[in-house]
Amino acid sequence: MKIGFIGLGNMGAPMAANLAKAGHEVRGFDVAGTVAEEVAEAASAREAATGCAALITMLPNGAILRHVADEIIPAMQPGSTLIDCSTVDVESARAVAAQAEDAGLQAVDAPVSGGIGGATAGTLTFMAGGSERAFNTALPLFEIMGRKTVHCGAPGAGQAAKICNNMLLGISMLGTCEAFALAEKLDLDWQKLFDVVSTSSGACWSVNTYCPAPGIGPSSPADNDYKPGFAAELMLKDLRLSQEAAEAVDAATPMGSRATELYQAFIKAGGEGRDFSAVLAALRGAG
Ligand code: NAD
Repeated sequence: MKIGFIGLGNMGAPMAANLAKAGHEVRGFDVAGTVAEEVAEAASAREAATGCAALITMLPNGAILRHVADEIIPAMQPGSTLIDCSTVDVESARAVAAQAEDAGLQAVDAPVSGGIGGATAGTLTFMAGGSERAFNTALPLFEIMGRKTVHCGAPGAGQAAKICNNMLLGISMLGTCEAFALAEKLDLDWQKLFDVVSTSSGACWSVNTYCPAPGIGPSSPADNDYKPGFAAELMLKDLRLSQEAAEAVDAATPMGSRATELYQAFIKAGGEGRDFSAVLAALRGAG
């Protein structure tokens, strides 16, 4: 399949490379001039979009997605599929899908979970929104770049699933950090806390798989001086998107709102560039 790929950053470059390695003819474009392994370089977004059966975007935010969409949608051939894998606001995802469908294209919003490691290994999780037909066209590509795909519903449903998941993750990580910080002050051994919680009702991904306490549980960024992983500023981006969405539909998310404030404060105090689990170090006063 002829595939265009726009946004060859930390995530996009390895995703595009995996499609090329699987035998697809991939042409990529990034304003920063970045390239990806085995991916041909296009001179513009428009050129990457012209003549492709599927065009994938992996961009920083909704405003940039809308700008790029204005440029590429008129260049794409009717019947082809626009797949946005960026994490953006639900509103932008729906607007771009409507614009694409008006132009006779199929559209899927399909943000991912799994980070740079998952993008490189081809083990991402895709959460997709769009028509059944659009989803089925995109599915074989998701299966190359990822390990698990969920069709969440209509356009925008993928982004909605992503921000609900990440709001919950932000909250659960903060709770996990607080529990480990409190345990330390109570002279409770971290390993003992892990042994109890990971098999009790407090068990969650933040404890069992990605424990913020160094030396405890499976290997995680805490064991690598909190190098991301998933950077705190990306968590803040997703929490802000969750709050924007909550405000738009008048949903009560008091914990999501507090988590947004806490990550904002953490970043202001020097947390930028550190893994989002480094909140534990800040709570301990260790950096
Ligand atoms: P990144 O900043 O490394 O990559 C974005 C790329 O888009 C950059 O290379 C940039 O030059 C390019 N770009 C910006 N404007 C452009 C334009 N007008 N035309 C063409 N290219 C343009 O970011 P990333 O880490 O690869 O993340 C991409 C998306 O994936 C974001 O929406 C992010 O929230 C989401 N995401 C990231 C992670 C992660 O762990 N990094 C995990 C899940 C989801």
